[in-house]
Amino acid sequence: MSDKLFERVALIGIGLIGSSLARVIRRDMPETRIIACARRAETLDTVRRLNLADETTDDPAAAADGADLVVLATPLSAYREVAMRVAPSLRQGAIVTDVGSVKEQVVKDIKPLIPEGVHFVPGHPVAGTEHSGPESGFPELFHDRWCILTPTPDTAPEAVEKVTRLWQGAGMRVTQMAADHHDKVLAVTSHLPHLIAYTIVGTATDLADDLKSEVIAFSAGGFRDFTRIAASDPIMWRDIFLANREAVLEIVQRFTEDLTALQRAIRWGEADTLEARFTKTRSIRRSIIEAKQA
Ligand code: NAP
Repeated sequence: MSDKLFERVALIGIGLIGSSLARVIRRDMPETRIIACARRAETLDTVRRLNLADETTDDPAAAADGADLVVLATPLSAYREVAMRVAPSLRQGAIVTDVGSVKEQVVKDIKPLIPEGVHFVPGHPVAGTEHSGPESGFPELFHDRWCILTPTPDTAPEAVEKVTRLWQGAGMRVTQMAADHHDKVLAVTSHLPHLIAYTIVGTATDLADDLKSEVIAFSAGGFRDFTRIAASDPIMWRDIFLANREAVLEIVQRFTEDLTALQRAIRWGEADTLEARFTKTRSIRRSIIEAKQA
């Protein structure tokens, strides 16, 4: 990654994603100054202990002051308030980007707050784990994953180019799409699977105690994989479902219909229907492995 890409980067929110990016910048752009912003003193202590930033603050406006790149990396529900606080201290020519898992709502909320002469490049590095906080980050998190940028028609191409280079430097493949399209794609690939995992694990939690202990003991039968997804950050996922409400509800409707069809096939012993369905889904797994996203 070029040493000169950014001089001063403000990371507003330094959890899993913010701290992983900080680690990439530390590794590849040692000349770049990093200013980390979080709410809690405990988080900022951890950031200093891990040497993830040159300066730390709990004030988003102070963090953004003089920065040529400001990265919003808080939970989505904090975005608007953070952007309102940051806006007055943004310097001319600065780039504001974000890492939020939903894009249309973010563009709607944040774009009007960005002053004239400042560039806004909405983005989503599609990489993560079920862990949170600055200690959970690692620089390889982004390696070989996709980053989706959703610039609007009036976003300056130079700003998009610089953000593209930032994520490419982190090892990501960068693509662009419209914000609403991003939200539909992610509703299928990420939001629905999380909703299903939360539901399944929730159902198991409600079981009688004797059955519950057996569910845990025999979890390797498939349940275990859902528990990893369902251990994801509750605040982050609450925000995602509320911000991407329409796309999620639409895909849940489709899913419910498909589930009912399978339920019916099981009830009436339609072996061919079940086999055809499972054969088709197996090929999706092969395509994911071939695309190196397994
Ligand atoms: P995280 O580990 O929970 O970290 C969130 C960070 O935001 C913490 O440093 C927190 O500071 C800070 N924060 C919260 N409210 C704030 C406020 N009002 N002002 C300043 N800082 C504030 O979260 P994450 O997993 O990195 O996720 C961050 C964003 O990335 C989310 O928008 C999410 O949609 C997106 N994303 C996440 C993943 C994933 O798998 N985790 C993947 C792609 C994109 P305190 O500790 O002081 O509260």
